[in-house]
Amino acid sequence: MNQTVRNILLFIGAMVIMGVILATLNMQTVEHTDIASLSTKVEQGDVKSLVIRGDEVEATYQDDTKNIVVKEPGDSLSTVFKNYGVDPEKLRAIPTEIKEPSGFSYWASLIVPNLLPILLLLVVFWFFFRQVQGQNNRAMQFGQSAGHELPKDSKEKVTFNDVAGVKEAKYELEEIVDFLKNPEKFVKFGAKIPKGVLLMGTPGTGKTLLARAVAGEAGVPFYHISGSEFVEMFVGVGASRVRDLFARAKKTSPCILFIDEIDAVGRQRGSGLGGSHDEREQTLNQILVEMDGFEPNAGVIVIAATNRPDVLDPALLRPGRFDRRIVLDPPDIDDREAILKIHADNKPLSKSVSLRKLAERTPGFSGADLMNLMNEAAILAVRRNKTSIGPDELFESIEKVMLGPERRSRVMNEEERKTTAYHEIGHALVAHLLPHTDPVQKVSIISRGRAAGYTIKTPTQDRHMRRREEYLEDLAVMLGGYAAEKIIFGDITTGASSDMKSATQLARSMVTQWGMSKELGPRIYGEQEDMIFLGRNIHENRDYSEKIAEKIDKEIDDLINHGLDTATKIISENKTIMDRVSQKLLEVETMERDVFLESVQILSANPDNHPKEDKN
Ligand code: ADP
Ligand code: MG
Ligand code: ZN
Repeated sequence: MNQTVRNILLFIGAMVIMGVILATLNMQTVEHTDIASLSTKVEQGDVKSLVIRGDEVEATYQDDTKNIVVKEPGDSLSTVFKNYGVDPEKLRAIPTEIKEPSGFSYWASLIVPNLLPILLLLVVFWFFFRQVQGQNNRAMQFGQSAGHELPKDSKEKVTFNDVAGVKEAKYELEEIVDFLKNPEKFVKFGAKIPKGVLLMGTPGTGKTLLARAVAGEAGVPFYHISGSEFVEMFVGVGASRVRDLFARAKKTSPCILFIDEIDAVGRQRGSGLGGSHDEREQTLNQILVEMDGFEPNAGVIVIAATNRPDVLDPALLRPGRFDRRIVLDPPDIDDREAILKIHADNKPLSKSVSLRKLAERTPGFSGADLMNLMNEAAILAVRRNKTSIGPDELFESIEKVMLGPERRSRVMNEEERKTTAYHEIGHALVAHLLPHTDPVQKVSIISRGRAAGYTIKTPTQDRHMRRREEYLEDLAVMLGGYAAEKIIFGDITTGASSDMKSATQLARSMVTQWGMSKELGPRIYGEQEDMIFLGRNIHENRDYSEKIAEKIDKEIDDLINHGLDTATKIISENKTIMDRVSQKLLEVETMERDVFLESVQILSANPDNHPKEDKN
């Protein structure tokens, strides 16, 4: 945008300069007149002398003023004057000098008028060309400028200290750094350092950050390119970029070559879907060729990052290529605290803030989410003119990061508010009364993102494995809102649709993926196949019969009905509590855990409210 504005200004400037030049050339110091008036002057004897320069006649008068007359080319001056009836005697009496038409101004006056349009055209062409080139820069440069080099002493140098958690990954990468610093140590022991390291982890776990930290620690050149940059408009550009990048890297070894988001090029070949399919294949092949091409211990280490290791071409994972694979786990509670600490470092936190508490309230948050949380809290504190970031800002930001910004402006009428309140208390009460569910942290009927209200429950511990029974209870909690609406108002609103969606998904996974259905047993139904575009499971490979499909449907129905029964039972047995807590929520709009517990007036989960297991 800026570039365009600058070009336009430049262009206008050039035009102005041209105009000025043109004007000065035309503007003669001597005034022009016509032959007729000059003839009169000659007749009157007013003319002292004449200078003839080609077709131009310069007349000097008795009072030393001058005039220029341009006569028609071809005719001589005497003929011209004769035509105007000038006495030839009088003309002869005037001293006349004939000069060769020469000198810069003469030639300029001849050439410039013809040349100017051409020049102007050239300038216009030049600007257009530049414009086009700017836009198609990448296309014009072809494979030349592949990758970017990070300056060795960049101000924003990242070190391992900037990365919290991901201990195993850091340990492995420290080894790589060690090799880059002292290769002899390893060579002496005959050890081969892997050529390629693949960082795998869900988005925001710090893969890119970690790769930059390796570069910062090792102090060697660091080339980085993103997989998506390979996907260019011309077939073959990607491959030539790879060649170019590796060539540059080899020249400056030891060095690190970082390919971010490698899944953009490294997906399984031959699946025949997606637009620039050939292009990707060629690029991938070139990467494989280059990686095979260099010697072990050549000092070039390729680090790649992906959040979709499952879709990578097996050839990439073959020994000798990315044979070292490092998984970056989502942060656990200690990691979260450490990450928060890193991002709180340059921010004024109030003394009353406990990062530990914040970490407890943010299970499932990635490193990027936590960074975002800190940032949102800082912005909130500034907007509230605080001197430091307090717990209020931090806890509010949790919900903002999780559910999107509050939408206080979304006005609900009284009926909608009431429905939302009962719906949310439905979730909260079922969660509160079932023994294996996560404790309710907060209930609110302030819209956030797309939800009319929300209920937040957070686990007391990080969990990696979950039991069937817990999922059964989760289903009941998910349907708690639906059940509440149905029991209290005898009708259902659209507010429950996303609950039903997640309940259905959970039930399906339980049956088909986790072997949690007694009827269908420990088998996986329907291998999920990944499709190139969207990067999601949009296609299911059906590897079971129609009869099984019916059974799956039946099982899903049963699970959902079981959940709904549980929720219905709890809510209809606790109608008075429902009324009381919902009324309170309508009053205060948002309830933290303590207020919720107080109005429920049951301080611990009541196991008696848990209905007996039926056949599910
Ligand atoms: P990805 O795994 O998607 O490449 P990034 O490395 O881009 O994630 O992480 C995004 C941001 O989140 C980082 O710039 C950093 O500020 C923050 N972050 C992520 N993980 C961590 C971590 N383990 N320690 C500190 N900050 C982190
Ligand atoms: Mg990344
Ligand atoms: Zn709901």
